[in-house]
Amino acid sequence: MAVLAIRKYGDPILRKKAIKVAEFDAALQQAAANMIETMQAAKGIGLAANQVGQTHALCVVDVGLITEGAPPQAFVNPVILQESGKEVGYEEGCLSIPDVNEEVMRKERILIRYQDLTGAEHEQECEGTLARVLQHETDHLNGVFFVDRLSPLRRKLLSKKLKAIAEEAMQELRQNRR
Ligand SMILES: [Zn+2]
Repeated sequence: MAVLAIRKYGDPILRKKAIKVAEFDAALQQAAANMIETMQAAKGIGLAANQVGQTHALCVVDVGLITEGAPPQAFVNPVILQESGKEVGYEEGCLSIPDVNEEVMRKERILIRYQDLTGAEHEQECEGTLARVLQHETDHLNGVFFVDRLSPLRRKLLSKKLKAIAEEAMQELRQNRR
């Protein structure tokens, strides 16, 4: 297993739509294991594949924070089929947008369809923190950040900070290419 570098806001891969996973092989399991290790090292509760520079539709969630004792879980090809309940506000952060925390409005319940690492399909109703994290991660796989969901005013107030993060991300990319 390996801890991978986390891509930051401004890195073009974070705006790309993930590609559907078709092969449920050892490489996929390895990718998920690396993502779980990376998420844990960064003390995150969720991580999407494009955040570590990969293009497949895979995210991992530390469901242990929600269901005590449960191991981190991989969600392959996740699709939110339904959102329901009230719109609720919750302060979100993101490993790709360091030091930015903002209240985001989302529906409190979702019905999600996903595959596990063996390819078996599941449909699950979630609420609370799990629904929140899965919406955030599914957004990533569609090239969307939580800051995109803020009001134009909030985004404007953040624009300098985001610009600075993006400049740093581009610098890191250039360095890694050398
Ligand atoms: Zn995020």
